Amino acid sequence: MRGSRRYYGLLTVLGLALWNVAVLANPIVEGDWVRYETERFFIYLWKETPPERLGLGSPDPLRTKLDEIALSVETDLKGIEGALQLPYDAALYGKIAIFVYASLEEYQQRTGCYLCSGHVTSVPSTPEIQALLATGRLNRYAVYVHLDNTPRGLGGLSIGLPQEVVPHELVHVLDLTLIGGSKPSTLREGLAVYATFKADATPDELQFGLTNQHLRLFAETDTPDLLSYLTGCSSRRFLYSFGGSFIDFVARQSSIGAFLEFYRRLQSERVTLPNCSFGFSLEQIDRLLQQILQKSLEQVRREYRAFLQTMELTEDGRRSYDFVMDQVFNRAIYLEPLLVNGAELVRQTRAVWAGGRFDRERAAYVRAYMSDMKNYTASAERVAGALKNFERVRSFASNYIDDPATRSHVEQRLRELAELARTERFEEFKDGFVTLVFQYVTWRR
Ligand SMILES: [Zn+2]
Repeated sequence: MRGSRRYYGLLTVLGLALWNVAVLANPIVEGDWVRYETERFFIYLWKETPPERLGLGSPDPLRTKLDEIALSVETDLKGIEGALQLPYDAALYGKIAIFVYASLEEYQQRTGCYLCSGHVTSVPSTPEIQALLATGRLNRYAVYVHLDNTPRGLGGLSIGLPQEVVPHELVHVLDLTLIGGSKPSTLREGLAVYATFKADATPDELQFGLTNQHLRLFAETDTPDLLSYLTGCSSRRFLYSFGGSFIDFVARQSSIGAFLEFYRRLQSERVTLPNCSFGFSLEQIDRLLQQILQKSLEQVRREYRAFLQTMELTEDGRRSYDFVMDQVFNRAIYLEPLLVNGAELVRQTRAVWAGGRFDRERAAYVRAYMSDMKNYTASAERVAGALKNFERVRSFASNYIDDPATRSHVEQRLRELAELARTERFEEFKDGFVTLVFQYVTWRR
């Protein structure tokens, strides 16, 4: 606690001095990375980042970029601590490492995380980093992102939830460090969604409002009992949205402290649920809710359902829901290499939810552009680009296609398409891949 008070004090002083990040050393090259140490972070930037991705127009572009990232992550961490009322003392737990790749492409290929825009895992096992870890000055959990995420880049569009990536991942680091233990992915992701929304300057009504409309529609048409997601044995569709919405609901009715108490005490156990042998039984959830919130699971279920019913469904809410169900963002990413103006289309798709609002015109444009076969073209190079996206399609199928027969059908189609590419039947490849993406990259059953 004392460490964190000192930190806030320092921030105020620096804030008055038009804060230039408190940097502790000049950047140094270490292995594949440029390392830069700040108040509570070690920032690692990919050594071979192209100059055009750095601070253009500055006398020291590398330093400018590092300072920009440093200011952004220090601010994000402070916002999250405030939202969760969970102080992070770097003197006690170590500074947090953040590994920044030059692009989404490079990040996904080097980490093998094809459905991710950022993630948290242990620090790499290189000798330099292990030596730093041994001093206790480094947290063993690190954030992995890329320059499109930093600072303030939107990610999570593939999961149907526009959210800034870096603060989201920082919440996972705080969670793993300060709470730890095995928890339902619904709540682990939900906590990151909740804290990121709360720490953001966009008003809550916009952030949670759109999400809650999605959840109302989802509950009405597909999964009536969203609370079954708390078992950790659910489909991943709207898992992040539900987690964030549910935590916000509990925090409003009670407090975020009460939610965190519930969350801390949850322990994974053997369960007998379809396709799931380990998770969180509804009995345990019911018992903890009664102990901490003085409410039964049934009562919370009824109240949460009633709360969603109060969400007024707007035209934007419905269209935004369809946009998620049709997985337009993932379709745009997968088809980008075959689209005449692919990069621009992905940029437009990313902007559809910027600022917590749903941009109806932009969404309509994106859909119309992607549905018109005239906007696709094939060449050896474009087909090679699309082949690189096969891993992404496989990743999507394994996460979101529940039926094993459908999953193997997708795999079979991908093999046939790879054969078309190998024999240079590019036009057929193009038509086949577009059809496959439109048919199977969806959240509709
Ligand atoms: Zn996450």
